[in-house]
Amino acid sequence: MSYVTKSPWLIHYDGSSCNGCDIEVLACLTPMYDVERFGIINTGNPKHADIFLITGAINEQNKAVVKQIYEQMPEPKVVIAVGICATSGGIFKECYNIMGGTDTVIPVDVYVPGCAARPEAIIDGVVKGLGVLAKKKEAMEKGLPIDTAKGKEKEEA
Ligand code: SF4
Repeated sequence: MSYVTKSPWLIHYDGSSCNGCDIEVLACLTPMYDVERFGIINTGNPKHADIFLITGAINEQNKAVVKQIYEQMPEPKVVIAVGICATSGGIFKECYNIMGGTDTVIPVDVYVPGCAARPEAIIDGVVKGLGVLAKKKEAMEKGLPIDTAKGKEKEEA
């Protein structure tokens, strides 16, 4: 992980999950897993967020919300898709209103598979996301374009 100059602020959005992955995301905030040891701060305001962590698949109802959250976040920013639903549509993929995973509407930097994704895998994904965030920040400081595809990484559950 590269050097991070500020606490990364994270916003979590539940697309259309069964809440299984959301419970595991909440577990990451408990003293047992303690994601705050990496300086992570949970926020409800996209304008303050560096990391967009999304659970659940994209559907016709939430696609505009996901896009809006993403567009409100300042650059540099990182998107982490948590759970197989957020990565590909998962078990809901064939449902009539499901479009697929998060990358059907916004670019994704880190994929964390699992059903549900385990807290250890989520935290590992967030730490990888911090590395991607640092690389994007460095590119911005050098005046280089931010290539979202370059930060794409697959996490193993
Ligand atoms: S990946 Fe599994 S646990 Fe997570 S939201 Fe989808 S069905 Fe639920």
